[in-house]
Amino acid sequence: DNLLLRAENVKIYFDQRGNGKNVVKAVDGISIDIMRNEIFGIVGESGCGKSTFGRGLINLLPLTEGTVYIDDKDTTQLSKEEMKDMRKRMQIIFQDPSACLNPRRKVKEILMEPFKIHGIHDKDVINDRIIELMELVGLAKYHLNRYPHELSGGQKQRIGIARALALEPEFIVCDEAVSALDVSVQAQVLNLLSDLKEKLGLTYFFISHNLNVVYQISDRVGVMYLGKMVEVAPYNSLYNKRYHPYTEALLSAIPQVDKDEQKQRIILKGEVPSPTNPPPGCSFHTRCPKKFSKCVTEIPLLLEVEKDHFVACHLYDSFHEIHNR
Ligand code: SF4
Ligand code: MG
Repeated sequence: DNLLLRAENVKIYFDQRGNGKNVVKAVDGISIDIMRNEIFGIVGESGCGKSTFGRGLINLLPLTEGTVYIDDKDTTQLSKEEMKDMRKRMQIIFQDPSACLNPRRKVKEILMEPFKIHGIHDKDVINDRIIELMELVGLAKYHLNRYPHELSGGQKQRIGIARALALEPEFIVCDEAVSALDVSVQAQVLNLLSDLKEKLGLTYFFISHNLNVVYQISDRVGVMYLGKMVEVAPYNSLYNKRYHPYTEALLSAIPQVDKDEQKQRIILKGEVPSPTNPPPGCSFHTRCPKKFSKCVTEIPLLLEVEKDHFVACHLYDSFHEIHNR
């Protein structure tokens, strides 16, 4: 079928001192399915665990608990060979292209790196592929002889994308891939990513702290808070209705073009609590304007409130029962 990746109860904890105290619960029990050729957007404030989760999905970080299946294969149980193969299929694009492009290497050399790492040495094969990659990301060939500092932010990010595409991956984690760019350049790079997805049949896990950016590109959106998924829905379903008070607050912060549409800005009280010591019950209760007694003691489950639209909030507990009848 169309399922590419399944995460089952994924937990990623960091034991900072190695003594079991101060354990950071960066990802705390997330289950999601990602379909082939889908853009799954993930939004949340910094520190909510979205980058950690993205790295866990592609095996760049070990899982503390749970499993990630790709094509029904348990990726926590791979042999060395299978792991190497998976490295090719799963790539990541980072926020700051300059930080991951070696300043002393020309673009051409930067694009050769992935081939070397994977033991591909045929010069003709590599050269042909590099020219193809430049065309794919819309850069003229003469940039191949340039150094990263001679390129604009948008051009550097295109090189970052080209490098991620070098080995023909299927799944790409885009971690704040446009967040460092000017708004006009952001739109161009988002368009490029969408086009590449269509052309190459890619699947993205698209991480951003900016719900507006996530809205622009995603087929489905997941909202994370303190290591948990609090709302998951198809883009248009979430656009029409946000159920979770946290999603509502995130959305109210986006300026609307139409003044009448402008939501009353919901200002959340207080800081995000520390993931070493998340609040009991619903971990959002310390900031939630709608909390009630149950929220403090019981952890809300992620339940389907309408077709394909999931929410973890006690406000909808009865809703779900009705839906199931
Ligand atoms: Fe707010 Fe309670 Fe819902 Fe948590 S479960 S988001 S505290 S209403
Ligand atoms: Mg991050």
